[in-house]
Amino acid sequence: MNIPDVPEYISSLVPYPPGKPIEELEREYGVKNPIKLASNENPLGPSPKAVEAARRALPMLHRYPDGSGYYLKQKICKKLGVKPEQLVLGNGSNDLIDFLIRVYVRPGMQVISSEPSFLVYQKMVQIAGGENIVVPLRDFVHDLEAIADSVTPATRIIFLDNPNNPCATVIKRSDFETLLQRLPEHVIVVLDGAYEEFVRDADCPMGYQYPDRDPRVVGLRTFSKSYGLAGLRVGYGIMDPVIAAMLDRVRQPFNVNSVALAAAEAALDDTQHLEKTLRLTWDGLDMLAQELKKMGCGVMPGHTNFMLIDTGRDAKKVYEAMLRKGVIIRAMGAYGFPSHIRITVGLPEENARFLEAFSDVIS
Ligand SMILES: *Cc1c(COP(=O)(O)O)cnc(C)c1O
Repeated sequence: MNIPDVPEYISSLVPYPPGKPIEELEREYGVKNPIKLASNENPLGPSPKAVEAARRALPMLHRYPDGSGYYLKQKICKKLGVKPEQLVLGNGSNDLIDFLIRVYVRPGMQVISSEPSFLVYQKMVQIAGGENIVVPLRDFVHDLEAIADSVTPATRIIFLDNPNNPCATVIKRSDFETLLQRLPEHVIVVLDGAYEEFVRDADCPMGYQYPDRDPRVVGLRTFSKSYGLAGLRVGYGIMDPVIAAMLDRVRQPFNVNSVALAAAEAALDDTQHLEKTLRLTWDGLDMLAQELKKMGCGVMPGHTNFMLIDTGRDAKKVYEAMLRKGVIIRAMGAYGFPSHIRITVGLPEENARFLEAFSDVIS
């Protein structure tokens, strides 16, 4: 058999590290009831109303979904005060990252992102044959001055995950607007607000606030984190209608499935579940920060549902010791932080179990 060769920029991609199903870990490590605080999911689960809506959608599975996402867009518009022609829906917000790059990036063009930040940006740019320009964070925050300095005539997109994953930090509105003033017209700035609902800082710029003011700004949001629907894959972008019309051209006609559309609509309506999620997250963040500081660990102020923690030792070893105690977390060596771990805020009892295991591991 002759399997065709692939270009170097494809073969050099690193596949997403496959995690193991929780059931496998249980068996392998002999731990009971492991808890997963590794993927920034909602520990409360989805809204019961979203689950019910998903169930109600099941008898219609023989039909193709509404490819325009009409009703979901209506609800998003009402919530955020935007217009339907400013919205594009995606199979997760990852879909939007892919669309933006497929529309605007070709070989010879550049995309700027920060290091560390969400790894999907660089991966998609590489697939498109574009050039990644990577700017280190400064003091754990996007270095907007260095980013502006890195812009060239070949730059097409700047990706800012705001809050940043994994540092949980946010940029300031005035700094963002200074960046916009410095940017030429041909550069799109993406504010990836996957964690925007968790932000407690009113001075944090959010993507949905900009399309009417500055057509270069694209905002991304997702139902995967605060809405607890990661398994269904729904996200959206808010942008100038001209950009939206271009993304619609590359989008597969039925990229968001019918169950996901129904559940996302119901999730948006269930404001109580969102409020409960936010309260639980904020209380958890504050409690964890306080306890971790007592243990002598450096913690970042959390503007998300997760925390970056400096353990002061080899994080890979901490990760493995925690695994043996049935607590699944993330070691951040791959992000350039060999002594840091990232944990997602869990239920109060999960946070307590994390603290107990962690204090054992580091003593
Ligand atoms: C989790 C996350 C997303 C969400 O991706 P989905 O495809 O919507 O699940 C996007 N951006 C960042 C920075 C994230 O951490």
